[in-house]
Amino acid sequence: MTILLGSIADDYTGASDLANTLTRNGLRTVQTVGILDSSLALPDVDAVVVSLKIRSVAAADAVAAATQADRWLRERGAAHVLYKVCSTFDSTDAGNIGPVTEALSAAAGGGLVLVTPAFPETGRTVYFGHLFVGGQPLNESPLKDHPLNPMHDANLVRVLARQSRGAIGLVDLGAVAAGPDAVKARLDTLRTTGVTAAIADAIFERDLETLGEIALETPVSTGASGLGLGLARALVRSGQVPSGAAKTADAIRPVGGLSAIVAGSCSRATLRQLEVAERSMPVLRLDPEKLLAGPDEISAAISWAGDRISAGPVAVAASASPETVSRLQSQYGREASGHAIETATSVLAAELVARGVRRLVVAGGETSGAAVDRLAIPAFLIGPEIAPGVPVLRTVGNAQGDMLLALKSGNFGGEDFFTAALAMMH
Ligand code: ADP
Repeated sequence: MTILLGSIADDYTGASDLANTLTRNGLRTVQTVGILDSSLALPDVDAVVVSLKIRSVAAADAVAAATQADRWLRERGAAHVLYKVCSTFDSTDAGNIGPVTEALSAAAGGGLVLVTPAFPETGRTVYFGHLFVGGQPLNESPLKDHPLNPMHDANLVRVLARQSRGAIGLVDLGAVAAGPDAVKARLDTLRTTGVTAAIADAIFERDLETLGEIALETPVSTGASGLGLGLARALVRSGQVPSGAAKTADAIRPVGGLSAIVAGSCSRATLRQLEVAERSMPVLRLDPEKLLAGPDEISAAISWAGDRISAGPVAVAASASPETVSRLQSQYGREASGHAIETATSVLAAELVARGVRRLVVAGGETSGAAVDRLAIPAFLIGPEIAPGVPVLRTVGNAQGDMLLALKSGNFGGEDFFTAALAMMH
């Protein structure tokens, strides 16, 4: 298998978002959870996104993990590797965007790296190097108060310079809007001044298409899903990827088995989706106090579900109203209660799979991450979307055999999301 595009994502949800964006823009894509064992066979795909958890670790650790992932991707043919970062450029002054970008560039023999977190679809645009979140500069947006990485400077040339050894330049919108030749000319000029990475402006998707085309001529780029969109469209335009609408059909080949829903998200959308699901399937509401008190509540839930799943899908939810959640959090602590409930829902998911569930819907970002970790699923082939941002996933190399999953961030999906998901999973 030879892949055309590789990507290393600095966190799991960012990786999923990118993998879905690449799929929507014409690339058959696999997302891995960490670096895969070399014995695991991948399906024939155009792109592989390696999910790491390196956004907020020490820079040296991030560099070591990313370099290893890069080697893995290059060995499988990736001529270009995108370092996928958050579209709000989350990082501290110590990194890790600068150090990882420089390490990947050095491993590929050096050269100027294009960098842009622009993703117009989600309101992230870059103008004269300044990142806007909706209509606000980054440092005036809610990101200024981010608990891990508060962003106090919207000027990404400065932000990246603080975490880089090399000089940082700018490819401004004038050049980007003028097209690939103008960008190339600007990059040539920047190279003569010793610049090693350049923030590129982008407001519209066509700007990202231009940047994607130019980035493909280099071995490394750094950006968010927006740059992924640009790279994917450029690859399709170049004729290297066969175009065709039926690309995701293979991902949703039936897997059989039983089906279930596990919900740990307490978002308003998920609470409403559970109410709607109750009309068409048995729904068990877990008692969060009992969940925290010991294993009995989850054992009871496993036998409740075990008694019913052979007759049709069931849903089990830890989800509760904001009042219940804050009561529990003030009693047990936010982190401790969240973590304990994630452990319980992931145990439940694993037990359901052990009882024959092969089609599984999980509601909640952290809840999904914990379930995927517990199930030890090495990788996913990305299928068609159930709702914007939520594709059907087909497991790759799963010890329990092929499964179909839908992993939903809390607020995603319409009110019939659960039945819509199951209708696409056979
Ligand atoms: P979302 O995508 O909506 O943010 P997450 O799964 O990421 O959902 O986060 C929800 C968090 O709330 C998880 O840590 C989950 O374990 C926790 N949780 C679930 N049910 C409850 C509850 N009843 N009380 C307190 N916390 C809960």
